[in-house]
Amino acid sequence: MSELRHPPGTFDVLPADSAPWEGLIRAFARVVEAAGYGLILTPTFEDLAVFKRVGESTDVVRKEMYDFEDKGGRHIALRPEMTASVARAFIQHRPPLPWKSWYAGSNFRYERPQAGRFREFHQVGIEAFGSADPDLDVEVMSLGWEFYTAAGITRRELLLNSLGDGTCRPAYRALLLAYLESHRDELCEEHQIRLEENPLRVLDCKKPACQKVVAGAPRQLDHLCDDCAAHFARVKNGLGALQIPYTVDSKLVRGLDYYTRTTFEYAGLGLESAQNALGGGGRYDGLVSAMGGPDTPGVGFALGVERILLAVEAEGGTDRLAAGRGLDVFVVDFGGSGGDAGRDLTALLRAAGLRADRAFDGRSPKAQFKAADRSGARLALVVGPDEAAGGTVAIKDLQTSADQVSVPVADVVAEVRQRLG
Ligand code: AMP
Repeated sequence: MSELRHPPGTFDVLPADSAPWEGLIRAFARVVEAAGYGLILTPTFEDLAVFKRVGESTDVVRKEMYDFEDKGGRHIALRPEMTASVARAFIQHRPPLPWKSWYAGSNFRYERPQAGRFREFHQVGIEAFGSADPDLDVEVMSLGWEFYTAAGITRRELLLNSLGDGTCRPAYRALLLAYLESHRDELCEEHQIRLEENPLRVLDCKKPACQKVVAGAPRQLDHLCDDCAAHFARVKNGLGALQIPYTVDSKLVRGLDYYTRTTFEYAGLGLESAQNALGGGGRYDGLVSAMGGPDTPGVGFALGVERILLAVEAEGGTDRLAAGRGLDVFVVDFGGSGGDAGRDLTALLRAAGLRADRAFDGRSPKAQFKAADRSGARLALVVGPDEAAGGTVAIKDLQTSADQVSVPVADVVAEVRQRLG
């Protein structure tokens, strides 16, 4: 029988490696909850229509979706992104506005697996519904920026653009289409065929042929209506006030169709360009109504957890994120009580809020000390025959070679706390 393995494009994170993941999500929650965002949970799969309606012309929805008919005959899709699910939940439950939520979870896209690109990947993100105020765009962008700082990523860049809205985008789209049509035979093969479907897509095509044509294309930024121009000016003003550096990039269009006005991306400067997109987002004032809900503006972002960890790694490692996640103490008991002393001491330590583990199976002192070393705990608490007879516990620092000291059982918790600082 062949060995069972995880599917291509997926991975396992074992307990020894998961501390940075936990640290990252904790850091994210701290940053966004301080600004009024609350955790939202939505199903991992949705009715296919939830995603179909919002991204008909995108690769994510057209080619990469994991969709299937379930045993009840429903057409289901594993979520390829979270914004559409959050919008669906908003429409279903109609919470009072403004409504701010954050999430952490996995998404599924049938892509070609490669470094930093998976078929199941993880995102953290926020969505804010119910305000068209450009200051909210700035709040959202600044929270992403602040989170990267908290995660230890300093080499990152904020790219900013405006996609206009229903007033100015149609005219710009026509202008762009006319320009691209006049250069059709210079475009990449795919865009020669699919140009009309969504000419904006050509702007962020990575193929050199398209990039050459795009260099001379009209820019949406030069064709914004007065309201969109004022919105964009206020966004730039707000970023300036918060001293968040940004680069205007007129070629920045997001992969999904529902974005209006502000669109942005965070790039990691320490990563290869193929995987340097750390996250992105924007304003999606048309999304809720496109999904059949009441006309409701919204803005948000999604950040790729795997990419963020790569960037943290490139900037000196994930130790800081993992800090504080390990064991405090490991209990070693060969005092002859049949395991009672170790059992009771471990319970006492855990009840006091310390992170404690112990050896089982009445193993030899040597095997127990080996387990203590491997556990990563700072301290070993040892109950040998002498300690058992005297009602004491020996404390051994596993990270220095300092002599062990004995303390009465009643003083153990206080002594451990003091040593842990
Ligand atoms: P998107 O919704 O495509 O803008 O994705 C937002 C972020 O999620 C990107 O900037 C990446 O950091 C991350 N991401 C998207 N697709 C993948 C993938 N297949 N594997 C890993 N990370 C991804």
